[in-house]
Amino acid sequence: MKLFDVYPINPINIVKGVGSLVYDDKGTEYLDLYGGHAVISIGHTNPHYVKRLEDQLHQIGFYSNSIEIPLQKELAEKLGHVSGKEDYQLFLCNSGAEANENALKLASFYNGKKKVIAFKGAFHGRTSLAVAVTDNPKIIAPVNETDNAVFLPWKDEAALEQAFAENEISSVIIEGIQGVGGIQVAPESFLQKIRSLCDANNAVFIADSVQCGYGRTGKFFSHDYAGINADIYTMAKGMGNGFPVGGIIISPKIQPAYGMLGTTFGGNHLACAAGLAVLEVMERDNLMQNAAEVGGYLIEEIKKFKQVTEVRGRGLMIGIELPEAKPNVVRLLPALNLTKAHADRFLEAFTTVLN
Ligand code: PLP
Repeated sequence: MKLFDVYPINPINIVKGVGSLVYDDKGTEYLDLYGGHAVISIGHTNPHYVKRLEDQLHQIGFYSNSIEIPLQKELAEKLGHVSGKEDYQLFLCNSGAEANENALKLASFYNGKKKVIAFKGAFHGRTSLAVAVTDNPKIIAPVNETDNAVFLPWKDEAALEQAFAENEISSVIIEGIQGVGGIQVAPESFLQKIRSLCDANNAVFIADSVQCGYGRTGKFFSHDYAGINADIYTMAKGMGNGFPVGGIIISPKIQPAYGMLGTTFGGNHLACAAGLAVLEVMERDNLMQNAAEVGGYLIEEIKKFKQVTEVRGRGLMIGIELPEAKPNVVRLLPALNLTKAHADRFLEAFTTVLN
């Protein structure tokens, strides 16, 4: 049997990883500032993470949501504490698309409305509604097309007001920093405007934090920079440091009901152990602070290159605009415990490549 050939891959076979370093089958060492697309949050094979998963595997790896899983409550408690959203409620799933799908569905259950505002450049995943609110017609199959998605220009407050005036809006979904869209930071005033329009119109504010969340920008959610609370935050990527875990946290104003949402795999024992290990390491090693410091340092240093026309982002979510390169935005999405020495190693290599 052959693989279904959908990925344009790099010809590298990574066989080992330690922290921010990975090694291929020929023994070549690479400094990993990509983290498997923002997934590796606490570094490859982090010892605490490996031990917690190994210990859990020896106990029990999986059981479904038909029984008590105390690890889920432990994870919710820890997540509330580390994110500062203590009064929110956690629903666990397995991926970013699934998190967004559940958030959009929950918003519609909540207010009984159908239209979703999304933005130019947005990426929210590949499942039915998540892809319908993603700004890429090439990945929207005819069966996913819907009149319920309302696309607006990025950062355009007047268009936002007009869309609310003309439609019954169920929810607004927005990345705090667009990732796939090229590291575009949502202005704080724009996020505040969305908050006030959602409040005035009984619409749900969904903060897609799948890529820009989980401490990457120096705050737990990049939307926090605007000083607002979203109604639902969606998460995945860094949440499990490579173990597939996704989730949404939900404001107390949205009440659950049995059967409203559900999943077979979401919240299983191993996934919770991975999620807990990540938060424990983040807290123990002050990784949000490290992301802010090392990221801030990198941003300032990269700005000094004359070939670079713009540097965008926050913390360790960085986009480097290089008109000469293809694609012209180089994205850095390393582990949150990237050291300054590794940042310097990158800057040295970047100097060599640009010269
Ligand atoms: N939302 C954002 C902002 C993303 O960047 C991605 C993936 O890149 C997704 C959602 C989808 O996540 P997943 O690939 O885990 O379904």
